[in-house]
Parts: sequence; C-alpha cells; structure tokens
Amino acid sequence: MKALDELTFDNRFARLGDAFSTHVLPEPLDEPRLVVASNAAMALLDLDPAVAQTPVFAELFSGHKLWAEAEPRAMVYSGHQFGGYTPQLGDGRGLLLGEVYNEAGEHWDLHLKGAGMTPYSRMGDGRAVLRSSIREFLASEALHALGIPTSRALCVIGSSTPVWREKQERGAMVLRLAPSHVRFGHFEYFYYTKKPEQQAELAEHVLNLHYPECREQPEPYLAMFREIVERNAEMIAKWQAYGFCHGVMNTDNMSILGITFDFGPFAFLDDFDAHFICNHSDHEGRYSFSNQVPIGQWNLSALAQALTPFISVDALKEALGLYLPLYQAHYLDLMRRRLGLSTAEDDDQKLVERLLKLMQNSGVDYTLFFRRLGDESAEMAVAKLRDDFVDLAGFDAWAGLYKARVERDGDYSEEQRREWMHAVNPLYILRNYLAQNAIAAAESGDYSEVQRLHEVLSKPFEEQAGMEQYAQRPPDWGKHLEISCSS
Ligand code: AMP
Ligand code: MG
Repeated sequence: MKALDELTFDNRFARLGDAFSTHVLPEPLDEPRLVVASNAAMALLDLDPAVAQTPVFAELFSGHKLWAEAEPRAMVYSGHQFGGYTPQLGDGRGLLLGEVYNEAGEHWDLHLKGAGMTPYSRMGDGRAVLRSSIREFLASEALHALGIPTSRALCVIGSSTPVWREKQERGAMVLRLAPSHVRFGHFEYFYYTKKPEQQAELAEHVLNLHYPECREQPEPYLAMFREIVERNAEMIAKWQAYGFCHGVMNTDNMSILGITFDFGPFAFLDDFDAHFICNHSDHEGRYSFSNQVPIGQWNLSALAQALTPFISVDALKEALGLYLPLYQAHYLDLMRRRLGLSTAEDDDQKLVERLLKLMQNSGVDYTLFFRRLGDESAEMAVAKLRDDFVDLAGFDAWAGLYKARVERDGDYSEEQRREWMHAVNPLYILRNYLAQNAIAAAESGDYSEVQRLHEVLSKPFEEQAGMEQYAQRPPDWGKHLEISCSS
C-alpha cells in the first residue's frame, strides 16, 4: 500500500505536446473537505484507504497541492452534440493531472473535474457543483459494481466556493480515473481541422497504449476500430439490460475504450419505459432509453468518418455492420440470465420483448421485477408478481410461456435458481430519488448519506441487513424528478 506521495507518474498523453493539450494549473477551491472516497478506486492506485482522511488528500484533489511529477493539461477535442458538429470543445473545466501506474503495471489517468477555467471553457466558469460531482461519483462506482464498463471515481471534495447555476451552489471537484480520456471527439477534432500528422500521432498513441494486440493484425487500425465497435456494442447492451440511460451521448462523451463516460443527467429506470428521456433539454428524445442502441451506431459512424484517412470506407462499413448483431447477442445473453435461463432458444428474444411490453403498459419496477422473479420458484414468483400488472390476461399468457421455458431449461433447485438469478439481478440501483436524498443532506453539510449510499451500491447483488429502504420503488415525489442538466 502506498502513501499519497508515493504515486509514480508517467504522463504519456502530456508528452504528445501542445497540439493535443494545454498546460493549465488547477484553481483551488476554498475550505476543501472530503465528501466521499471509494476504497475500491483507491486500490487501483495501491493507495491505503486511510489516506483519504488526511488533510493533504482534500488539498491534492481540490487544486491546493500538486505532485511534482504531475503535469496538469486541458485536452482539446470536438464532437457531434445532438447530431450537429461543434468544431471545438475540450476540457473546459477538467484537467488531466497526469498518469499514474500501479504495481500491476496499469496506467490510470487522474482527471480532476471542476478544476477551473481553461482555454476551452467557452462561456463556462470552469467549475462543477457538489450535486453533479456526487452524481458522477455515485454512478461511476455503482456501474462498475454492476459489471458495466465505466470510468471510475476516486473521491469528491466539497468546498465553500460559491458557484452560480440556477441558484447559488457550492463548488466541488471529482477525481475521475480511466485508462484513457481519449474520446471519439479527439479523432474528429484532428480530422475536421485537417491535421493529418497529429491525427496519425493520436492514432498511434491509442493503438500502442490501449490496443497493443491489434498491432499483430494485418490492418492494425481496422482491428482497433473493430474492437471499439465490439466494446461499444457490449457496453450499450449492458446499459439496456440494466436500465441505464446516459442522457448525453454526444461523440465528445464517448470513450475510445468503450467505457461509460461523462455522467450528466443520467438515470436508471424505475418503472420500465422504453421511451424514457432522462435529459430534460433533449426535447426530441434523441437520447431516449431505446434510442441509445441506434445512437451507439450513429456515434461509431461519426468516429468511422474521422478514421477514413487510415481505413478504407468499405472496411469501415463492414466493421460497423458488426455492431447490431453483437449488441443483440450480448443483450439477449444478459436478459436470458436475468430470467434465470442458462440455455438458448430461438424464441427467447420474443419472450423478453413480450415481458417488456407488459411492464411498459403497467409501469412495473424494472429492477425489482427481476430480483423478485429469482426469489423463489418460477411458479411461486410469477404468482406473486402478477398483482403488479394491469393486463392480467396478457401477463398470464406470458407467465405460461415463461414457466414452460424454465421447465425446458433444466432441473434446478429453488436455491440454485435464486443464487444464479440474484448474482445478475441487483437489489440496489442508483435511483434518482436516492441520489437526490443524499445530495440534499450533503448540501446541508451531512455527507453520511452519500457515503452510505455508495457503500450499499458497491455490493448491488448482495442483500444487506438494515438497508431495505434502498431497495424500494420511489415514493411519489421521487418518480419524475426533473434533474437539472446544469452541472
Ligand atoms: P458536457 O455536457 O459536460 O459533456 O460538456 C460539454 C463541453 O462543455 C465540454 O467541452 C466541457 O468541458 C464544457 N463545459 C461544461 N461545463 C462547463 C463549465 N462549467 N465551464 C467550462 N466548460 C464547461
Ligand atoms: Mg463532456
């Protein structure tokens, strides 16, 4: 285990130079204090969890102190926002502090979000508020615990610095960890600004550091693009299977590693609703829950366009063609497991679709349905769940098919069924209203609820004593919360 001053840096992105990022020092926040830290994320840096409680920890992650080997940089990128191209974006309020490598030899980007103005701040103030920092922290660590690829979060540091959004709030910083912060928008920036040399340098950087196995392939860049397509298909399959709605799938928010990235007005579904739009600025529902699947492909096409200098259009098209079938395969595989099925049958897709339609029409809680389905035998479970549905005849017809399907699947004991199903069906998810409760307490200076919620969500599949209140449907006030998109 390491102390804070024992981290080892190797700032590979910074070494690409000024065409890729700009040196900027973090602007400190007043009266920094630890809000929450993730022990699991601390372990990625080999850090002793106890160091989070020391004053220097809050100073380091609120811009007061910096390691001598850190090289804080604001990265430049662009991207398609809501379908339209924005020629220049970039880290407007976040800084890549440097890259730390751990004892296992993994590199982790240390990215401090809310660190003040940069050349890419445009009209913004360079800050992040406590509310949005807590949401990003909780979501990163909760998605990871669910097995969904994501950037991670080390900690949130709060402060007394006033920050203006719809009202006065307090500034905070979140320390994000990821093996890379390169986005689709990085490639788009160098493509549309017609800087082929730098674009080639970026492509080499990503290939060498993040897709070294693709080097062995006859066409390394094509192999890398295929891998990016595959990872995105798998990530989005997991979002859909677990009811995660990202909300701002702009290409500047899409990671080159196929991990969930940049948390804004995201939400997990409470009631199942395929048309759910979590981002209140998304008037056309471009990023609605069910649209995430085609948008994933749209975003990959935008990346493909930016890669045309390296890969033939035909090869890119062929690779893009892998997306939907791969998505379908991953999604169906996960949904089968959520239903407690270990074999595959042709009609399984229809079984899932029929269930989702019934859930949609009756406003059934997406997470609790699957958890309860695994509580006991299929026979007993569907008999109890029946009460949640309005269309009883429709549910009975589905239940009949399901019970017969379970029967054909194999002869398992009730205990076995429960164990398998509970291992893929979480009891606890980051419901918006739970985040809201924790944020309200934190805004009045009590961080214990954020910490408790983070703890509970770090073991989402394990029933935890005394935590029943985190495994409930939302109360009426918490059902359709308008989550502010300002962050
Ligand atoms: P986002 O919607 O958070 O993905 O941000 C889109 C772009 O706006 C990125 O280039 C951000 O760096 C920038 N941005 C967002 N909020 C701020 C802010 N408060 N100050 C400066 N730049 C910001
Ligand atoms: Mg962003």
